[in-house]
Formats: sequence, C-alpha cells, structure tokens
Amino acid sequence: MSENRKLETICVQAGWEPKKGEPRVLPIYQSTTFKYETSDQMGRLFDLEDTGYFYTRLQNPTNDAVAAKIAELEGGIAAMLTSSGQAANLLAVINICEAGGHIVSTSAIYGGTFNLLGTTLKKFGIEVTFVDQDAPEEEIAKAFQPNTKLVFSETISNPSVQVLDIEKMAKLAHDHGVPLIVDNTFATPIHCRPIAFGADIVVHSTTKYMDGHASTVGGCIVDSGNFDWMAHRETFPGLTEPDESYHGIVYAEKFGKMAYIQKATAQLMRDLGVIQAPMNSFLLNIGLETLHLRMQRHCENAQKVAEYLEQNPEVAWIHYPGLKSSQYYEIAKKYMPNGTCGVISFGLKGGRERSIRFMDHLKLAAIVTHVADARTSVLHPASHTHRQMTEEQLLEAGVQPDLIRFSVGIENVEDIIADIEQALEAALAFEKEKFE
Ligand SMILES: *Cc1c(COP(=O)(O)O)cnc(C)c1O
Repeated sequence: MSENRKLETICVQAGWEPKKGEPRVLPIYQSTTFKYETSDQMGRLFDLEDTGYFYTRLQNPTNDAVAAKIAELEGGIAAMLTSSGQAANLLAVINICEAGGHIVSTSAIYGGTFNLLGTTLKKFGIEVTFVDQDAPEEEIAKAFQPNTKLVFSETISNPSVQVLDIEKMAKLAHDHGVPLIVDNTFATPIHCRPIAFGADIVVHSTTKYMDGHASTVGGCIVDSGNFDWMAHRETFPGLTEPDESYHGIVYAEKFGKMAYIQKATAQLMRDLGVIQAPMNSFLLNIGLETLHLRMQRHCENAQKVAEYLEQNPEVAWIHYPGLKSSQYYEIAKKYMPNGTCGVISFGLKGGRERSIRFMDHLKLAAIVTHVADARTSVLHPASHTHRQMTEEQLLEAGVQPDLIRFSVGIENVEDIIADIEQALEAALAFEKEKFE
C-alpha cells in the first residue's frame, strides 16, 4: 500500500495489486481450499505460526483484497468481510463483549441492530443501555457501568439521518476505558472517516452504497489498530488472556495492533462461519470502484430533492443534514464537509395515512426493503423495517410514525422530483374524491 493516496484512487486501485503477468482485475478465487506441499506447512497455519490460505471460511484471497481496500478507505489497519451488515455488527460486538458484559448504544440506530443489541444479545447474557446521542456528555456518562465493554453508534443514523458527534462519543468511550464502534454505512468513507475523529472500530453494511447496485448482501469490520487492549487488560480478557482454543495464544501480545481482527478471524469466523462468498466480494469490489462518483451524485440529487420538499407546503417536516435548517447542519459540515448521504426522512401533513398513500402513488421510486443504492427507493419504517417496535421504541429510535425514508438514487434529479410531485397530487386527489 502506498501511503496517502487519495480516496478516489483507493476506490479504483487498492486491495488487488497484481504482479507481472497476473490479471489486472481482481479474480474470484472460487475455491474452498488451498494446497500445501507438506503436512508441517499446513500445521503451522493452524498454529497461526505462518500466514497463508487454507480454508475459505477463515480467509480467501478475493475477500482479503476487498477487505484491504475498505481498510485503506477508512484509514484502518485491517478489515474482514462478513456475510451481511448484521453479521459484521454481531462479530464486532461479541469479539470484545461476552456474557455478563454491557454495551452503551445510541438509540437512533438501524432497526435490525436495535433488535440485535436489545433482544438477541440479551439472550446471550449481554445487557445494553440505549442513550440519546444528542444528550449532554454528563447525561450519557451515567449509562456506563463497571462491566461496560464498548460504545456503539451510527455516523448517520438509519432511518432518522441524525449525525453523530463522533469526537464527543469517542471521548466518552475512552474516558471509560472502552472503544467506540461506529456503523458508517450511510456516510461511507468517501464522506466520513470516523477513525480520524477517534472511532476505534468501523462497521459497514456493504449491501448499501458500497455495493451500490442492490445485488449483494455483505458486511465489513475495520479496526483502526488504535485501541490499547493491554492497557485495559481486565476489561478485555478475550484479547489479553490465553485463548485455550488456540494453544493459549494471547492475541494482544502475539498480534499487537492486529489483535482485534486476528481474533475475529481465528476464533469467531472459525466458529460462526459468517463469511462473505468470494463471488459476492468480487461484485462488491466492482461497486467500490465507483463509490466516490456515486456518493457525489447521490448527495447532489438528495440536496435538490430535500430543498424541493422543504419548500413544499404539503411537507410537515424534513430531516436532511445538508439543509441549513437541519439541527445537524453544523455538525455535518464538521465531520462530512463534502456531503452526507442520499437518504432523506420526512413526513407529510395528513400524517401516517397520507404518507402511505403518497408512497403507493410513486412510480420511479420503488417501495423496497432497501436503501442507499443507485435506484431511488422509498420505505415506511413504522410499517416495514421497524414494524416489531412499540410506538415508544419507534420514537426512541427517532422514527416518527409518519416517517418516510426516501433514498435518492443517481437518476436525473428532475425526474425524481417530478415523480414526487405527481405522487403527492395523486394522493391528495384520491383523498378529495374519497372523503369530500
Ligand atoms: C442495512 C443496515 C444494516 C444491516 O445490514 P445488512 O447487510 O442488511 O445485514 C446495519 N446498519 C445499517 C446502518 C444499515 O443500513
């Protein structure tokens, strides 16, 4: 890796760096297994004495090349790909938090992650306290306990598009001797590199902008290498005490700054097997090659759509951090000076019913359980992704019942706005006919 090359160059070129006579394009290593000459060579791999490929559940060259590209994009030291964004969140957390542990998480996070932390990990014996990310530091500090192992948050929350004060949250985590894990799915490293602001571990649903074409589900964990596990020996025994399932290796001693990803690979991937298929990581890599171009267009389009919605008298409220009226405008300027993301959330006058009717009349924007891809898409979280939540949990997660999540694609923005316009008119005309 050459130091300090720019993001655009990393998107196109990083990860796979072919030598003489090798394919210019990253090949798909469609093989479960890798050959060795002697039994001893293979044995040394199992002892983690040598590096090399032996079984795709643990490592695969296609996956590793793509992980290396994402690590470089984020300014991290190492990364691993996972089968989904949820798998990335799960592994990122349980790599350092076991039964009896506790998590401080912001409440405005993706619905699936809210359930993972609040329901499923609870069954594993892990407790979580949800906090309001905009609360004062002293308030959030009260959530920490002696058994707290990490802080979890999203740089731009899905679907409420709240922007995280990364430095504030990193300081809170570090003051309590634990790392900050942030989900950077919506901003992507093109618009925000959380490690530069103190985040220790970055997770992604690569399913979204990174793949960008809604073709593959995937996830990624990036480690900054900055958190000093040995300085917090007692908090993180999984990294600082011998792993009996690996001949008594102490990850933080043997691998130093690489310890976190090494443990996640050698122990968690070995046992849980949530790998990304090499075919999928190949497709992800093609997406990454144009990430910088697409993010720029997503944001330009979203800005125009947000400005259109803001002045439309039928719109009750709108959240988009690129709007001057947004409570997150200043903070977004600090952490994401070149743009945020293509996702807008808003509600219509007439509430939940009209919001749903409006969505039903959209033609170009499709109702899909997806967000952040090339095609404009729309979803009503209270009826869809967040359906399992109570009204109270919805509000805690920043999801008003009338919230429409509008994911602006990279089509021509005039066509997107025309579609919104006709759907609004059709929804109002329908109501007029029905109720008057
Ligand atoms: C979609 C999403 C996830 C979950 O990712 P999958 O790839 O669907 O498992 C996690 N976090 C955020 C912010 C997301 O948008």
